[in-house]
Amino acid sequence: MKYRTYLLFGPPGSGKGTQGKTLGTIPRFFHCACGDVFRSIDTRTAVGRAFLEYSSKGQLVPDEITVQLWKARIDAAVDGHNFKPDIDTLVLDGIPRNVGQAKIMDDLIDVEKVFHLSCPDRAALFTRLKKRALKDNRLDDANEDVIKRRLATYENESKPVLGYYGKERITCIDATEPPAKVLLHILEQVNEGAMTQYEPATV
Ligand code: ADP
Repeated sequence: MKYRTYLLFGPPGSGKGTQGKTLGTIPRFFHCACGDVFRSIDTRTAVGRAFLEYSSKGQLVPDEITVQLWKARIDAAVDGHNFKPDIDTLVLDGIPRNVGQAKIMDDLIDVEKVFHLSCPDRAALFTRLKKRALKDNRLDDANEDVIKRRLATYENESKPVLGYYGKERITCIDATEPPAKVLLHILEQVNEGAMTQYEPATV
């Protein structure tokens, strides 16, 4: 059985993590952020070392390692009954991050919707990432060259994922709007259809 999935997609700093965390607090959603999975790995392990090596240069970790690690995390969540695939929707942020990963994951996930948090204003992203470096102690946000490289990696390697899934599944949302408004747009899509059937209670 493939996991029913929504993707949060967008450049670094577009707010995928913020939205994912919020959605993850709603029953029937299970949020998984690939960057958090990597950051939770012991840096003395081979995977931990690979993560440090690539992320510090603004590059993607190789696909096989990434998808294996992600799958192990999801399997553990299923085993621990934190993610119940028969009733929950998986909310992914940060994966798949290129077409290679999307292809490998095709056997595992059924992508119903893609929320594209769009922010053409790269200067705004730059400012957000610099702020995050200080607040969240993110080493990969602290160096301007690394930020530039990450934004370029997004353009060249990640953006083609949108073409892979196709227009029908994509909702484009303005990522410069306040987080509550972005969330509202996402929830409108999630509840599409359900909203029109809604009848206010009389008691
Ligand atoms: P951001 O919030 O800036 O998009 P993340 O926390 O999602 O950053 O990821 C941080 C770093 O972790 C990335 O720059 C990359 O090196 C690595 N990483 C995260 N997800 C993936 C992935 N799906 N494939 C390869 N590398 C990844």
